Formats: sequence, C-alpha cells, structure tokens
Amino acid sequence: MRYLILSDIHSNLEALTAVLVDADGHYDRIVNCGDLVGYGPDPNAVVDWSRESGAPAVRGNHDKACASLTDLEWFNPVARASDEWTHGVLQAQNLAFLKDLSMGPQAVNGFSILHGSPQDEDEYIVNELDVEAAIPHLAPGVSFFGHTHLQGGFEIHRTVVRRTRPDYFEVNPEVQYLVNPGSVGQPRDGDWRAGYALYNTAERLVVYKRCEYDVASTFRKIIEAGLPEVLGRRLYVGW
Ligand code: ZN
Repeated sequence: MRYLILSDIHSNLEALTAVLVDADGHYDRIVNCGDLVGYGPDPNAVVDWSRESGAPAVRGNHDKACASLTDLEWFNPVARASDEWTHGVLQAQNLAFLKDLSMGPQAVNGFSILHGSPQDEDEYIVNELDVEAAIPHLAPGVSFFGHTHLQGGFEIHRTVVRRTRPDYFEVNPEVQYLVNPGSVGQPRDGDWRAGYALYNTAERLVVYKRCEYDVASTFRKIIEAGLPEVLGRRLYVGW
C-alpha cells in the first residue's frame, strides 16, 4: 500500500491542493497527523475535505483548541487570535468533526500516526534527547508525527538515536522510526514549500517531498480575513 502522509495543514487550502496534485498517482490512501486548522484562512474547506476523504486523522493541539477553545491561555497572542477566529467561522458539522478526532497514537495498517509525541500530543520532538524520552512509549516500526513543522525523522536502534537521511530512506524492520512528513500549510524549517511524505509499505520506502504552492493567494486571504499579518508573512520564508 502506498500512503500519502500529511500533517499540520493549518487551514491552508492552496498548500493542500498543491500537495494533492503533486502526489497524484503516487499514493492509494492518505493519513493525517493533525492540526488541520489554526493559523490559516480556510478551516471549513480543509475540514470538509478531510471529512469527505475519510483519511484516518489524529487530533492536533490546534484542532483541540479551535474546537472547544481549551488551553488557549498557553498559546501566544497570534495563535490565540487565529484559533478564536477559527472557532467563530467553523460550521457546526466541522466543529463536531474536530471534537471527535481521537488523540494519537493511532495504529494504521502496521504503522502509527500521532501529533506531538507518543506520550503527549502537546509535546515537541525536535532533537535526539526528545526521541530518547519517547522511546518507552513508542510503538514498534514506523510512527509518523507532526507538531514541530520540521520535516525529517529519527531512527532508533535499541537505545541509539540517529537522524534519517533528509531525502528518503528504506525501513529496516528491526529499527523503530519517528518520522515528521513536514507541514503542509506552515513549514518552519526555512523552506517555504509545502512538506509531505510518501510511504510505500511493500517497498518499505519513505520519501520526503516538497512542492510549491500559491502563497500569494493564501497571504491575501489571511489579510482579508483580518487574521494577524505575520501569519501570512511567515509563509513566504517557511518560518
Ligand atoms: Zn501545527
């Protein structure tokens, strides 16, 4: 089976559409590591798409916050403003869909999807030390995660943690993996292009991908919606 692995779409319809076109023909099914909404201008279109796709998805911290307005006191003012705006414009069926998303990790056909870390959806896995802390909670095989908006992964052999190759890697059945496909809608690794990954389970191959999208349209919609301008500017630089 060939999977398209998505994470952190963040209401960016132009980025999502570009990824679906770019990956077309290279996948059979889609999975989603959370944060469908927050920051971007198109929450309803993105949640409509997710509902209709039927793709397994786990809840991200922004999905939780936008659905029920909890935890907002821990958010910075820009994130808080965008999540309050999102909550206000989400249609009832989309609010209900976000509230029903289950917390990761979730098992999907021999691999796992989760948002932050296996022990806590709000925790960030950035470096080898974070991975070491996650090892006791980690399922065997490959786990895909999001939350950091940084494309790349880690391989764990017993207690040794190393980074995967930055472009693609072959899955060794004796090794555990924590793999971030990158953020579709708000990359923060210095590359503005939408990030995603492809996982071919038969060939045991994971490939990291990037594709360009119409940032100017997303920027314009952010301004028109009255969302903080910084949320549009950061998209141009991938930060
Ligand atoms: Zn996110």
